[in-house]
Amino acid sequence: MGIFKLIVVVLVVWLGFVLFKKLRKPKSELSQKPSNNKMLACRVCKTHIPENEAIIHNGKVFCSTKCME
Ligand SMILES: [Zn+2]
Repeated sequence: MGIFKLIVVVLVVWLGFVLFKKLRKPKSELSQKPSNNKMLACRVCKTHIPENEAIIHNGKVFCSTKCME
């Protein structure tokens, strides 16, 4: 039960993950289907809002344009 064993396990998982990502390139974001009931938290006021009503700007989530300022 050494830390070496743990490192080997992590490395193997990581390599598998990298290979998996290389083999399966994500499809274009335009074809992404909006998920129905996913809730996102506003970055500013922490209000939870449905993903389709959220304003996502530069990868940040806002509930309204007020919170973007
Ligand atoms: Zn907000």
